[in-house]
Amino acid sequence: TPLPVGPDRSLRANRVPVLLHFTDITHLREAEEMRRDFVANVSHELRTPLTAVMGFIETLRGPARSDPAAQDRFLGIMEAEARRMNRLVSDLLSLSRVESQERMRPSDEVDLSAVLDGVVAALRPAAQDSGNTLEIERHVPDGQRTVIQGDRDQLMQVFLNLAENALKYGGPNKPVTLRLVAEAGSGSMKGTVLRVDVIDRGEGIEARHIPRLTERFYRIDTHRSREMGGTGLGLAIVKHIVNRHRGRLRISSVAGQGSTFSAIFPAV
Ligand code: ADP
Repeated sequence: TPLPVGPDRSLRANRVPVLLHFTDITHLREAEEMRRDFVANVSHELRTPLTAVMGFIETLRGPARSDPAAQDRFLGIMEAEARRMNRLVSDLLSLSRVESQERMRPSDEVDLSAVLDGVVAALRPAAQDSGNTLEIERHVPDGQRTVIQGDRDQLMQVFLNLAENALKYGGPNKPVTLRLVAEAGSGSMKGTVLRVDVIDRGEGIEARHIPRLTERFYRIDTHRSREMGGTGLGLAIVKHIVNRHRGRLRISSVAGQGSTFSAIFPAV
């Protein structure tokens, strides 16, 4: 504010100019809250299997001491819980790695078509066990390369996570399709884009859940996710990897018919 100009010069002389600096710390507070929630969630997720393991150790030392059949059963459960903790720690490490790399663009040329072949080869045995089929469809014009600039292992991780979810939540005896499409981009993605749709024929996802699915530890049905060996971090990892590749993740679902998770990347 300009100092008043007027006859009262003494008043003007006594004024001390003050510089006020305002910083909006709302986003800092939100980030801090998210960090705190995350630590609380991780602790809870680790404590659940740990409590189970400790409980069974007690039982093995006491009531099951001379019951080999019970010992065998309890050791099996303990092993499953330990594996779950291991998966959780691996997913936490993956998430932390991709988050810290998000601003660094990966630079290798990666053929998405070959990545999908790798995913199907890796998951076929598990798919067969649950009576599912896993198929690839390609809608790519002759001569069009299916290459993007990326990190092969991370792209593999994206489609493994999406296809594993499609198999888990799509239900038994339902086909899962990985569809690779080359098409013209729109909006901020000019030029040709490559889109991979991971399609299941499960129950579908209610619209209110869709925007939150990529949050860490967000699950529609926690019990079901745990039972299926889920950590609740798969889609959060997918989202960060897709972002790092300047891509976009789209989720659509029709109740009773299934869901489609699409990852879209600029083609090289
Ligand atoms: P989780 O380890 O629990 O599978 P994700 O991050 O991969 O964790 O997925 C988060 C949640 O999104 C899942 O718990 C599940 O409720 C829901 N979800 C993911 N994929 C599908 C799908 N194909 N169909 C229905 N629900 C899904």
